[in-house]
Amino acid sequence: MPELRQEPVTKKWVIIATERSKRPIDFNIKQDECKRGTCPFCAGNEDKTPPEIMAFREPETKPNERGWWIRVVPNKFPALKKNGCQDLLNPFEESFFQIMTGIGAHEVIIESPEHDASLEQHPIHQLQEVFRAWRERHNSLMKEDAIKYVQIFKNSGAVAGASLEHPHSQLIATPLIPDVIEAELKGAQHFFKEKGGCLYCEMNQQESKKNERVVAENEGFIAYCPFASRFPFETWILPKQHQASFSLLDESLLNQLSIIVKETMQKIVSSLNHPPYNLMLHTAPAGYTEAPYYHWHLEIFPRLTTVAGFEWGTGIYINPTSPETAAKYLKETKHRLKNLKKGEKL
Ligand SMILES: [Zn+2]
Ligand SMILES: [Zn+2]
Repeated sequence: MPELRQEPVTKKWVIIATERSKRPIDFNIKQDECKRGTCPFCAGNEDKTPPEIMAFREPETKPNERGWWIRVVPNKFPALKKNGCQDLLNPFEESFFQIMTGIGAHEVIIESPEHDASLEQHPIHQLQEVFRAWRERHNSLMKEDAIKYVQIFKNSGAVAGASLEHPHSQLIATPLIPDVIEAELKGAQHFFKEKGGCLYCEMNQQESKKNERVVAENEGFIAYCPFASRFPFETWILPKQHQASFSLLDESLLNQLSIIVKETMQKIVSSLNHPPYNLMLHTAPAGYTEAPYYHWHLEIFPRLTTVAGFEWGTGIYINPTSPETAAKYLKETKHRLKNLKKGEKL
């Protein structure tokens, strides 16, 4: 069973999950090898994963068979595990150290039966299905008393931590509110008390008005490189209307979200030559679904620089590309691609 341990000074939690070291390093599965049946996420290899939790599939097909277009399975090497025993949830002290049993869930959302598809290449209707699956799993896990937060994320490329090439996202449900979300809640709460509004709504308005860091915008969403970007080309996508939790995403917003994610990712992928990246959903933890000060959003980190000694030592990031330059570059990508077709080099 994995364990959560609290660092006594900073109070940050760490998951000790030794089983994960048994994970195969199989990122470099090539397309032809995949066809030979090695990729557990490919259609036809359903028996190579633990039994599915849910799937969007043809009505006449059975679970764990072909016929699906989205499939959710437990992670074979989970960072956190389900366990019926609620008593284990209370942090207990082992001498002076705080430990919490690693209760939670770790699931894989297989975004397509096709091995060589990628997020930005999915048709809009497929992307909608990906986000529907995210919403469904998020909402289902949040109903469990033991779960305080559901972190949905995507690692793409070996550098970004993906161990399989096949397009997939993951979720880890935790029995506590992670530090990053706690810090966002605190900052947003403080702003709300001082100014009486949502900090993220205000930020959206400022960015939209200034239009210096905006990458894409549609009816429901805005994408921009944040003012204090930690990484080159760091991009956030936020709903324009105030909404604290991803669980509240309705069908019309789901469509708008698919469009802006596709557009933003296409810009990132084509202008930065398919960089490895991490994409993270930040959403309201249990008990904050209707919070007037919190605002769910996506954060995308293309992995172009390495986090090194200074960053680890201080928590201060050195970003060699200003968000204004990055946004301009991404915004103009479509234009530059058009020119490229006419013979101009990038
Ligand atoms: Zn595959
Ligand atoms: Zn807001």
